[in-house]
Amino acid sequence: MEKLIITIAPTGNVPTKAMTPHVPVTPAEIAKDIIACNQAGAAVAHIHARDEQQAPTTDIKYFAETVRLLDAAGCLIIKQISTGARGGKSGEARAEALALQPQSASLATGSSNFPASVNANDPGLVEYMAKVMLDKNIKPEIEVFDTAMIYNAVHLQKAGLLKGPLLFNLVLGVKGSLPATAKNLFFLVESLPVDAVWSVSIIGPQHVNLSTIAIALGGHVRVGIEDNIYYTKGVLATNVSLVERMANIAKSMGRELATPGDVMRIWGM
Ligand code: ZN
Repeated sequence: MEKLIITIAPTGNVPTKAMTPHVPVTPAEIAKDIIACNQAGAAVAHIHARDEQQAPTTDIKYFAETVRLLDAAGCLIIKQISTGARGGKSGEARAEALALQPQSASLATGSSNFPASVNANDPGLVEYMAKVMLDKNIKPEIEVFDTAMIYNAVHLQKAGLLKGPLLFNLVLGVKGSLPATAKNLFFLVESLPVDAVWSVSIIGPQHVNLSTIAIALGGHVRVGIEDNIYYTKGVLATNVSLVERMANIAKSMGRELATPGDVMRIWGM
């Protein structure tokens, strides 16, 4: 079986210091957590940015500082910049930080609901974002909140806007989207193109169980405070603790961990 890619999503757009003191929000805090998670086995960092009030921002200066700190520390982790709908409104704003030339960026290929807002990605915006990533040779990670997003990505590939193998992140457990059940996970996996590379982001109490199923099936996993602020019921997580648990599960299942170098090969770059 292919080596396991663990992606760390340390911050996201939602958790605040009031919700958990362990969420990193400044570039210095985010870089520090990513470096520690890289040492614990994470090969990809899914990066968001926050302003001085902890609010989500697409301002490139915050992303640039996080990237600068990672590079200065010699951290080779694969950088994936979020272009998610909660960070900004227009395609131009959401794509601003792609000027930093990360190896990867998230790409939503359809719309859905977040718990209290809309995950708005109209067809024109999706095509614009895909084109920017294609021009910059940035690997899009397709964020799948609903099944249609898989088929939309396949259409974009046929139109020449996405290059295969397609990389998918199956997101289960966001209120307003698909619930985190094994049945939904199997259904999404069976709906993927045969050569797809895929991971899961499981939000909520099923995250350990369903992530373990993904590891067993040959998929990859994303963990981090963006997706779960709790390690177990009532116990707040740290980013490192979430990565370590996945690394231990993989080890006990006999699956090796991918290095950043392996990631580029597995993603077909
Ligand atoms: Zn994200």
